[in-house]
Amino acid sequence: MAVQPKQSVCMDSTSESGFISFFSSMPEKPDTTLRIFDRTDYYTVHGKDALFTAREVFKTQGVIKYLGSGSRRLEGVVLSKMNFESFVRDLLLVRQYRVEVYRNKAGGKSSKDHDWQIAYKASPGNLTQFEEILFGGGGLGEGAAGVVGIRLGTGGDGQRVVGVGYVDSTLRKMGVCEFPDNDQFSNLEALLVQIGPKECVLPGGDTAGDLGKLRQVIQRGGILLSDRKKMEFTAKDIVQDLNRLLKARKGETVSSAALPEMEKQIAVSCLAAVIKYLELLSDEANFGSFKLTTFDLNQYMRLDNAAVQALNLFQGSSSDDPTGTHSLAGLLNKCRTPQGQRLVNQWLKQPLIDKNKIEERLDLVESFVEDSELRQSCQEDLLRRFPDLNRLAKKLQRQSANLQDCYRVYQAVGQLPGLVQALERHTGKHQVLLNAAFISPFSDLTSDFSKFQEMIETTLDMNQIDHHEFLVKPSFDPTLSELRESMDQLEKSMQSALNSAARELGLDAGKTIKLESNAQMGYFFRVTCKEEKSLRNNKKFTTLDVQKNGVRFTNSKLSSLNEEYVKSREEYEEAQNAIVKEIIGIAGGYVEPLQTLNEVIAQLDAVVSFAVVSHAAPVPFVRPRILEKGSGRLILKGSRHPCVEAQDDVAFIPNDVTFTRGEQMFHIITGPNMGGKSTYIRQVGVIVLMAQIGCFVPCDEAELSVVDCVLARVGAGDSQIKGVSTFMAEMLETAAILRSATEDSLIIIDELGRGTSTYDGFGLAWAISEYIATRLKSFCLFATHFHELTALAQQEPTVCNLHVTALTTDSTLTMLYRVKKGVCDQSFGIHVAELANFPKHVIANAREKALELEEFQDISRAEEEGVDAGPEAKKRCLEKQDGEKIIEAFLDKVKSLPVEDMTDEAIKAELRKLKAEVVAQNNSFVTEIVSRAANVKVV
Ligand code: ATP
Repeated sequence: MAVQPKQSVCMDSTSESGFISFFSSMPEKPDTTLRIFDRTDYYTVHGKDALFTAREVFKTQGVIKYLGSGSRRLEGVVLSKMNFESFVRDLLLVRQYRVEVYRNKAGGKSSKDHDWQIAYKASPGNLTQFEEILFGGGGLGEGAAGVVGIRLGTGGDGQRVVGVGYVDSTLRKMGVCEFPDNDQFSNLEALLVQIGPKECVLPGGDTAGDLGKLRQVIQRGGILLSDRKKMEFTAKDIVQDLNRLLKARKGETVSSAALPEMEKQIAVSCLAAVIKYLELLSDEANFGSFKLTTFDLNQYMRLDNAAVQALNLFQGSSSDDPTGTHSLAGLLNKCRTPQGQRLVNQWLKQPLIDKNKIEERLDLVESFVEDSELRQSCQEDLLRRFPDLNRLAKKLQRQSANLQDCYRVYQAVGQLPGLVQALERHTGKHQVLLNAAFISPFSDLTSDFSKFQEMIETTLDMNQIDHHEFLVKPSFDPTLSELRESMDQLEKSMQSALNSAARELGLDAGKTIKLESNAQMGYFFRVTCKEEKSLRNNKKFTTLDVQKNGVRFTNSKLSSLNEEYVKSREEYEEAQNAIVKEIIGIAGGYVEPLQTLNEVIAQLDAVVSFAVVSHAAPVPFVRPRILEKGSGRLILKGSRHPCVEAQDDVAFIPNDVTFTRGEQMFHIITGPNMGGKSTYIRQVGVIVLMAQIGCFVPCDEAELSVVDCVLARVGAGDSQIKGVSTFMAEMLETAAILRSATEDSLIIIDELGRGTSTYDGFGLAWAISEYIATRLKSFCLFATHFHELTALAQQEPTVCNLHVTALTTDSTLTMLYRVKKGVCDQSFGIHVAELANFPKHVIANAREKALELEEFQDISRAEEEGVDAGPEAKKRCLEKQDGEKIIEAFLDKVKSLPVEDMTDEAIKAELRKLKAEVVAQNNSFVTEIVSRAANVKVV
């Protein structure tokens, strides 16, 4: 809970009513925008915002104070400066809200004296104005923040086209992209995952039809939506605007009209809207600093939001994962610099497709895995020495840097020779690559910065830096040394003024009477309170103030010397300021190499981080063998889930995975609850993704063809509440989304159809599986409780059944987590019943039946594994399949009995009735079980 500040919101009553009138006249705002009023020493929030702040920041309604009374009563909460800063950080970075800070242009004393105007504002995609508050203490660990604009249009062929314009004001990048899309906007979803914007602007107003769907897709990615006027989405002034904003290539003047990006008219109009939204043109520091590129959707592996969640790429809420290792980002991000952390997060969203690029990253990672000394010295020592160079570059660009910032750049550049030396000592097989990727860029940068380093060395007073003072050397400029000289002279004269004062007062100079100075008063004398009596009645001395540690005073001599000194000091500062400005001005010319340095350091940090994680895993990761896209193989030996195995209390059981085109392309995984099905299918996705971002993988051996996309569908646990029709709609949507998969995609489906009645759910699960297996021919892993689905293997040769194993005794179920071929040998109904807290006797009966089932399953398994079981066995097998369905239906009915409200007698009667229905169906398999079970006295 935040500490409550002491201030009250109180103003005098006229002023209060003036503020209330002003506040109520403010235009409406969404609840996701917070308005904060800056009252110089503290801040306030009002109305709904006050209630929100009380609840979320202070966790108590007690902090709410009221302005006015009756119907005009207005809630208010006071925030101290510290509360304000942490609140703003939380709003913008965690909750992804917008913030507006208002200042009063009028005095605020009388009722008319309220003219509050926006002093600064920010939204998750545009944090520039809050940068110091948000990241003052550290790096932008969150990853890039950006804003996209999206508009739908029609292409030349009459097809619907999605246009996207993108601006990242932190990294100073702009992008445009246009593509056709399906009804579910699958391409857009994948694009949003890849670029990861925090905020999206849309032409406002329309929510019907397509746009409603579009909004859902955007919101599913946790992106904040802002509606803008339609007319802002126009490419009218864009050429002119871009001419100002874009960086000129060497030796060229910018003429954005000729850029190939301009052909994408719909996307360009979106870019225009984002530029307006971010008000990029109102800050001259933005001019000539942006890069514009076309974003190609197919240069990276496509991921949908469901896959991002199913593979747990990024940390969800921090409370259920305090160590952060449950997410892949948490596991892989062992970076030492903020820029490295940002890059790893970006790589996770942009797995590579190009085999050569993947191999190159793997080569780099391998160099650091094999060279322990280099890996350790980079991780534990060298990389730590680099600050967030991107932030410094931005400060330099805006000319808002100070001498300390320049010194930090100087220090960072000074680290490069040591880093190069360490890298040059490496003698592994990828030496040439290491040279091209790091050594030579670092060496080039060292020489690019040589003049900068010289400048800092000649201008900065290095002796003062030890005292954390960043000053210009007096010797650097004649005016400064002159001033310094006269100040030294004045100091000497003040020293002799001290001596004569000491004589006059009969005190010991430097001991009982001292000459001291501070920033506000300049020079003064001080005696301890004990000596104060010697000053009394002495008209020559004037007391300045009395404090615990003594009396501060002066005389006419000292005060005139001091005046002169203060004047000289001001002149010195002024003279230094001009030089500082010049230094900062020159440093501004180093923005580009500084950004390059930032990028190379980030890459080194990210690669070293992968190597560290690969080496330090409970069982070290191995380098995957990458095959070209389309090779149709995905073979993992002894594969593990890297995040689950990293948990302290887990002894992870490795499993194999085999996919080969035309042979095994669709795996159905069945088995008891908590048996490891989800973990198994998700680990395959995680491993493929890790391989394609260039990291080693948690396997004994891995061979994999490049995958163009990973799609996931995870049955929502709550669809029971949603009702069947919503569920049906969702499933149909699933089928549509899956349509964007190709032969080279990996699809992961978990528990599809669980939330509906067995019949509907099963029908859909079957239809979707069949569609994937026969039409899409993607690699697919499907974890399900529908045993009936396993029959698909008999119909489709590329469908295989797998099951997770468990060991059952009379009363316990021990998970073995070993994935084996064939169908699960336990009737899942028993576990369902057990979990639903069924009366013991019902479960006992069911267990008995399951035992009977086993011998039949052996036959069906023998068949699956290609052993000829003979016609008689086949017939029995078919009977068994029907029989199982009958038993399952029986169990379902039993499950739905309101046992809580029934007497034992009533339960027994009901069960007898249901049993009679089962027997009446005359299935040989069932009859046999029932006759054997007759000996077991259950019902
Ligand atoms: P449900 O059917 O209820 O969805 P499930 O079969 O999908 O369950 P998981 O959620 O994958 O089961 O696994 C349950 C737990 O078992 C996991 O949280 C994990 O701790 C453990 N587990 C899963 N796989 C393994 C494994 N291979 N080795 C060790 N522990 C494992």
